[in-house]
Amino acid sequence: MGTAAASTTCTTCPYCGVGCGILATPGPDGVAIAGDPKHPANLGRLCSKGSALGETLSLDGRVLAPRLNGRDTGWDTAIGLVAERFRAAIETHGPDSVAFYVSGQLLTEDYYVANKLMKGFIGSANIDTNSRLCMASSVAGHKRAFGSDTVPGTYEDLEQADLIVLVGSNLAWCHPVLYQRIAAAKAERPEMKVVNIDPRRTATSDLSDMHLALRPGTDVALFNGLLDRINAQGAVDCEFVTAHVSEFPEALESARRGDPTVTGLTHKELKAFYDLWIRTEKVVTVYSQGVNQSTSGTDKVNAILNCHLATGRIGEPGMGPFSVTGQPNAMGGRETGGLANMLAAHLELTDPTHRAAVQAFWKSGPVACKPGLKAVDLFDACARGRIKALWVMSTNPAVSMPDANRVRDAIAACDFVVVSDIFPDTDTAKLADVILPATAWGEKSGTVTNSDRTISRQRPFLPAPGQARPDWQIICDVASAMGWPDAFNFRTPCEIFREHAVLSGVAGALGRDFDISGLADISDHEYEALEPVRWPVTATRSGGRFFGDGRFFTPNGRARMLPVQHRPLAQPTTKQHPFRLNTGRIRDHWHTMTRTARTPRLSQHMAEPYVEIHPSDAERLEIAAADLVRVASDHGAMIARALITDRTAPGEIFAPMHWTSSWASDGRVDVTVPANTDPVSGQPELKGAAVSLEPLRPVWYAFVASRYEPAIGALPGLAYWARAVTQTGWRAELAGDIAPVCWESHARLLLGATPADETVSLIDKATGRARIVVSSGGTPLGAVFIDRSPVQVARSHVIAGLLELPAEALLAGRTSADQPDPGAIVCSCMSVGANTIARAVGEHGLGSVEAIGEATGAGTSCGSCRPELRAFLLPETVKLAAE
Ligand code: SF4
Repeated sequence: MGTAAASTTCTTCPYCGVGCGILATPGPDGVAIAGDPKHPANLGRLCSKGSALGETLSLDGRVLAPRLNGRDTGWDTAIGLVAERFRAAIETHGPDSVAFYVSGQLLTEDYYVANKLMKGFIGSANIDTNSRLCMASSVAGHKRAFGSDTVPGTYEDLEQADLIVLVGSNLAWCHPVLYQRIAAAKAERPEMKVVNIDPRRTATSDLSDMHLALRPGTDVALFNGLLDRINAQGAVDCEFVTAHVSEFPEALESARRGDPTVTGLTHKELKAFYDLWIRTEKVVTVYSQGVNQSTSGTDKVNAILNCHLATGRIGEPGMGPFSVTGQPNAMGGRETGGLANMLAAHLELTDPTHRAAVQAFWKSGPVACKPGLKAVDLFDACARGRIKALWVMSTNPAVSMPDANRVRDAIAACDFVVVSDIFPDTDTAKLADVILPATAWGEKSGTVTNSDRTISRQRPFLPAPGQARPDWQIICDVASAMGWPDAFNFRTPCEIFREHAVLSGVAGALGRDFDISGLADISDHEYEALEPVRWPVTATRSGGRFFGDGRFFTPNGRARMLPVQHRPLAQPTTKQHPFRLNTGRIRDHWHTMTRTARTPRLSQHMAEPYVEIHPSDAERLEIAAADLVRVASDHGAMIARALITDRTAPGEIFAPMHWTSSWASDGRVDVTVPANTDPVSGQPELKGAAVSLEPLRPVWYAFVASRYEPAIGALPGLAYWARAVTQTGWRAELAGDIAPVCWESHARLLLGATPADETVSLIDKATGRARIVVSSGGTPLGAVFIDRSPVQVARSHVIAGLLELPAEALLAGRTSADQPDPGAIVCSCMSVGANTIARAVGEHGLGSVEAIGEATGAGTSCGSCRPELRAFLLPETVKLAAE
């Protein structure tokens, strides 16, 4: 494969774990992006994030040379310093005084050398990854049940199943192409059923035949109840259990002692779900962060696996448990030992035979023999001064870790911090002594593994800019400078991949699941042309499912059922902190927004941090739609816009995980989340904090649309700000506690006006309302709308009008009769707003998503908004249209 046409490169999306194939075609107007119709993960589909990848490739703001204490330097100086400081820390304080914190964004080749350096040559296992926040509980659950971290099924199972159960997964927004595949299969076979298990009603629920809004953290009780019912109804596959499963009686006994009503679901709901699951042979249970990000995440995983093992519904077409990974290469990280408690190639750190095999293979000193620090413990060790040198690669823990303020302070306090990344202004990079410029998507070359074990190539189609280097090369350069040039003498990612594949053969010979030794002799040319391939890849086997033959990777070859019991969330709600905070992704942003926030298209769907609040709670706390609210715990506080909706239950709120201090004053939700972890997996409970909620009552609110970046700091007494890029420049939402004496002069400062620029304004001192437009030579520079309550103005109209309308027309802040306000953008690709869609549905009596598409264009490109379009067909559904 390699290239589809002379100038088109086949590569892989760098965002979620679906791992979609992409065709990238550079041209005079930028890089055209399309879904790869031949890639087995997406068959040509893309979501909104993947479709907008071409808009994330600008070099604006990139770090293009190594930086030492804020100043550019050369690679030799930077590498020499990093090697010297790591070596000095190791010599003085021992190997466990240094740590790497890496990322599911790294390619497998990057991961392989990072792990080899830390575990094999430094001799510590202090390398952990942000995948700890994502799927560590799935890894632990798999290993307890299967003896290996094996995802048994394939994406095709999602289409072949008669019942899909989605647990703790807003697939429509978090794995949109898998959602599209399921939606297409269901459209073709309407008898196929979908059950959505989630405390919150989400875009995914709208596809479902049954939505079970269980209480947060009660999944173990739900699936224990299912296991009990499976047994009671005689649905146990006795032949499979007798031949291939151990500890069935213990698991069943434990399940019997549970009480499924702690889920808060009615007997009728429980019965309906249990009956449907039991009578449907072909069932796939898909689970994601709602299961994993919990202090009982591993037990939740095993409660699900128990049901599949008891019924023998595993490893056959259309049936099995299915963990979907959040990140593009979470699986590659697992394969190379990127977690602190794993060795390379799915070998065990605590097994002397495995360690000896890896040591002999690497020709290294003694391989680390005890697990290293998992993410939460790692930053805790930084805070306590035990980590003297820290290297963070391609991730932003100062935002994404729980108790994020403490993590930020811990990084700041660490003696020596290195960050390799593509931008120098992330919350974490700002704390670094040394920033190493890494290559970005489109410039990198290597492989990634998606959620169904498919290995795909990420291929470069752009040159490395400035002095940027691939991560694998940076790591090898540091390793060589530390004294191990021979072990890290790799010249290409292909050479690393070959070594990784050979080592997997060693693991395969030791009876491990991960074995791609069939690729051990891959030539440079074959690597360039490598088509997506699902592991294992050996002399006798390629791809397929695991466990259909009943053989598992435990010492006795039998799967193990785990006796598990429901445990409540770690932090109880209290009078002071009565709300349960759920966190998660939104449709158009990725992680800490380092790339997606730079594209106007992806920034228009949700332009500022928000909190979903049930109407009854909002009424009680006197919170109106679009008010600002403060969410707080003992650990920190965030401020966000209130979105009042019955999608969330009374007493529960939801806030997105993405906003950083670059894009909002107080949008980092994880500052409120305590660092409680699962005792087995070490994964933090990011979805169950107990928090308070109160309205913020600023003196003034403002909305700004501006051609250039607004000088937000020019305003006094700011209580809140959030900003985003737009097609015509920038937008900002502001609020403050002290009203400026002269709004006109502050608006001019905000918009960067010169003395020659003109101002037109409408100011009503009695109501506190003001509208100010500043123009330069007759062209608007920007508009500022001020009010004592949340500003009501047709934002999309004003943003678009910056380039089209005279100042007087902008001042009106609303559309004329012949120019209706499109409303908040729902379809990012086609820029179709909520008002446009609602009008079309109402005026033409549209009855399907397809009809909306024909009438408005919405949903006709990537299709990521189609779940939201479906909501416009339901009159009772709260629309995310408030603007
Ligand atoms: Fe990328 Fe979207 Fe595919 Fe995920 S579903 S890999 S974000 S295009």
